[in-house]
This record gives sequence, structure tokens and C-alpha cells, in this order.
Amino acid sequence: MSELLHPDQYRVPPGGPADLASRNPADRSFFSGEKREGRRLAKALNRRLEQLQELLWAEHRHRLLVVLQAMDTGGKDGTIRHVFDGTNPQGVRVAAFKRPTPAELAHDYLWRVHPHVPGDGEIAIFNRSHYEDVLVVRVHGLVPEDRWRRRFDHIVAFERLLADEGTTIVKFFLHISKEEQRERLQARLDEPHKRWKFSKGDLAERRRWDDYTVAYEEALSRTSTTYAPWYVVPADRKWYRNLVVSKVLVDTLESLDMAYPDPEEDLGDIVVV
Ligand code: AMP
Ligand code: MG
Repeated sequence: MSELLHPDQYRVPPGGPADLASRNPADRSFFSGEKREGRRLAKALNRRLEQLQELLWAEHRHRLLVVLQAMDTGGKDGTIRHVFDGTNPQGVRVAAFKRPTPAELAHDYLWRVHPHVPGDGEIAIFNRSHYEDVLVVRVHGLVPEDRWRRRFDHIVAFERLLADEGTTIVKFFLHISKEEQRERLQARLDEPHKRWKFSKGDLAERRRWDDYTVAYEEALSRTSTTYAPWYVVPADRKWYRNLVVSKVLVDTLESLDMAYPDPEEDLGDIVVV
């Protein structure tokens, strides 16, 4: 997509700071055109992502891990639905990390995560992730501070291990404003077909908005690295959010310099009868 530059302004520099307070969830400095034009570009990026994913699968050499984090209603589900529209379900897997089961709680917090990382040729999308173990766990004091604090280093080391062994990692924080969350939660109440998404617990989490912001600020600042960068995606506008995420993914896959595997030799004269 020659029209668009890489949205570098949204990447958290290695070592931070994420500086969430100065990042506008309604920013549109990456693309100033109209929504219609933005959606057209997003569609073109969809098609490109589709091709790149087929190439990834065919080549079976690289692995891509996509981490999605956001406040409630931040748009993780919608991002997955739109950005990966058209990709081949064979080769793309989504892992959603919910409240840990008793078996998961009986192990270290990365135990449940590692089995879901991508294999050769695969894209794995994490809908929530190991980051919950320094976010919700911190905000609710589910483990003592000295314990969750050590996890920043574990997480950096874990992602380093994955990268060293051939996994490309890109992480997105879908950044919405508190007002936008209010509107989206209200819409879940007002629109009957959206009610299933509403949970009263979301209101309790909303009251902890500032605590989550502090937790996100530190998590993103401590864990953005050259090999596993965080992008803070302005997410108040859904179409803009999709455009930014698609562009980062397309650029990331293009940077891998993939090629279709060489066919077997001497296929030119074969006629199938
Ligand atoms: P949802 O994404 O709406 O399906 O909700 C999943 C819930 O699981 C969220 O409230 C998360 O905060 C919660 N959750 C995910 N991972 C963890 C974790 N490691 N510890 C506690 N709660 C978690
Ligand atoms: Mg929810």
C-alpha cells in the first residue's frame, strides 16, 4: 500500500514510555482521509494480508504471534473479525484467555499460554494474553505485588525465547477513551442483540479505569522491545483501528521476505491424464 506509511507514531519505543496520557484515542494522524476512503484501503489491505498469509502457510518457515489487549469494549473481537476477514482458517488460530481454570491456577501463569503459540506457517492471535497476569491480576491484587512485578522480566524473556526460535511477534493495545467505553457499554444494554456481551462485572471494571490505565502504562512501557513491539492503536473509530492494525500486520509480514517453496524439478513436461 504505497499510499500509507508505516504507522510508526503508534509504536512504543523499546524501553518505553508508552505515554498513554498523551496519546489520543481519536487520533487520525496516520490517515486523514474520509471513512469511505479508509474502508477502501482497509479492504485492499485485507486482500494483501490474505495473500501474505497464504505465502506464510505455503512456505512453512515463519510463525506470527499477534497479541491483542484492550479495556472492555475496546474492540478485540471486532478487530479479529475484520482484519482477518478472508484469511484461511487453516493456518490462523485464535486463543482467548479467560479467567484461569483451577488447573491453570495450579501452574505458573505461562503454562497455559505456551501451547497456543504459532507453529511453522501459522498465525496465532491472542485475544487477551499473558499480559492479563500483570493487568487484571495487579488491579485486583490477585497475587502479591512482588510476585506480579517479577513477571515483566519473565514476559520479556518468554517473548525473547519465542523470537529467538523463529516467531515474529506484534502486540496491539486498542486504546479507547472512557467516554467511548461508556457509549459502547450503553449500546450493549440498549440493543437486544448486543446484550449477551454485557456483564455487570464490566461496570465494576470500569470503576477501576484509572488503575487499569496505570497497569497498562507500566506493562506496555516495560515490555515493548525490538523483537516484540507494542502498538498503541487509536481505537475510538473502529474503521481507523482496523486500518492501523491491518497496515502493521501487512508491513510485518512483508518484512519477512517470504517466497513460495521451489517446486519439484522437471514438472514442465508432465501432463496429468
Ligand atoms: P472476556 O474477554 O470479556 O471474555 O472476559 C474474559 C475475562 O477473563 C476478563 O474479565 C479478564 O480480565 C479475565 N481474565 C483473563 N485472564 C485472566 C487472568 N490471568 N487472571 C484473572 N482474570 C483473567
Ligand atoms: Mg467482556
